[in-house]
Amino acid sequence: MIADIALTEPIDPDERVIRFIQVTCRCGEKSPVARDPMQDKVPNDADDWHAAHFDATGHRDYHRWTLERGAGRMYRF
Ligand SMILES: [Zn+2]
Repeated sequence: MIADIALTEPIDPDERVIRFIQVTCRCGEKSPVARDPMQDKVPNDADDWHAAHFDATGHRDYHRWTLERGAGRMYRF
């Protein structure tokens, strides 16, 4: 079976690069999957979750997953 990620919002097919992120705490808890704003000081659900989780637990160590889509076109000669 081929799985597809569940997109959190519709994506413009002409957008060049998009990225999704998820934070996994080393204790095993996971943030929601969020669209990476790819700009400083723009909030997203994954990093907001991590800030709240750190405030609540003091857990510092985590993994940050990313999934990125670029655009391409196949040619065969
Ligand atoms: Zn934790």
